[in-house]
Amino acid sequence: MLYFENVFTQLNENSERTRNRSEVNTPMNCSSWVYSQYLKHNWVVVVEKSFFADSFNLYGIVSNDSVEQRALQIILDENFENNGEILEMAERIFMQVHARYIMSSNGLQAVRRKYESGVFGICPRFLCEGQHLLPYGSSPVPNVGKACGWCPKCNDVYRSDLDIDGAYFGPSFPHFFTQMLKDTVKTKPSKSSSFQYFGIETEKNSDLIPKTIPHANEDI
Ligand SMILES: [Zn+2]
Repeated sequence: MLYFENVFTQLNENSERTRNRSEVNTPMNCSSWVYSQYLKHNWVVVVEKSFFADSFNLYGIVSNDSVEQRALQIILDENFENNGEILEMAERIFMQVHARYIMSSNGLQAVRRKYESGVFGICPRFLCEGQHLLPYGSSPVPNVGKACGWCPKCNDVYRSDLDIDGAYFGPSFPHFFTQMLKDTVKTKPSKSSSFQYFGIETEKNSDLIPKTIPHANEDI
């Protein structure tokens, strides 16, 4: 996959959340802290509180370290500390848990709804005919790179103008999504432009001009 510099996805007009957290009621199945992250980034889905309850889902992300445990308490609304280090850790944990959640059954469906609405952008390539993009992160590690959009048709990655960490999604997600929801994602390759002269297709490397052009003073 290639990165196209300076190509920005056409984002849905609703991509920037302007709603104030106080205007919206937090759903019963998630913590208010998680919901605030959802409102901050339109690409993020709501991670259910029950997902955090299963230690298997946190394996390798949250250890017994006191900082990580305090950060987890913030995520679950069990405690709140206005401590920069702890809040930063909470965001890092949430990014990685989010990347796991979107590969669960409920997570896939949540992303599917956003994908069908074009929330992750539209492929700027003309021949992809407005194909919706899927979220892609170049690394599963937080703070390595921003999330991009991946096109299932041309198989390319496009930069987004949204400032959201790629670790929310990771490098495997779009391909996993495509495999799991084959009926939702059209992976049929888009048309490629062909070499044509006056409507007649030619070989890419064919010579239209004779290799040796006779000089004017040469006998033909
Ligand atoms: Zn495309």
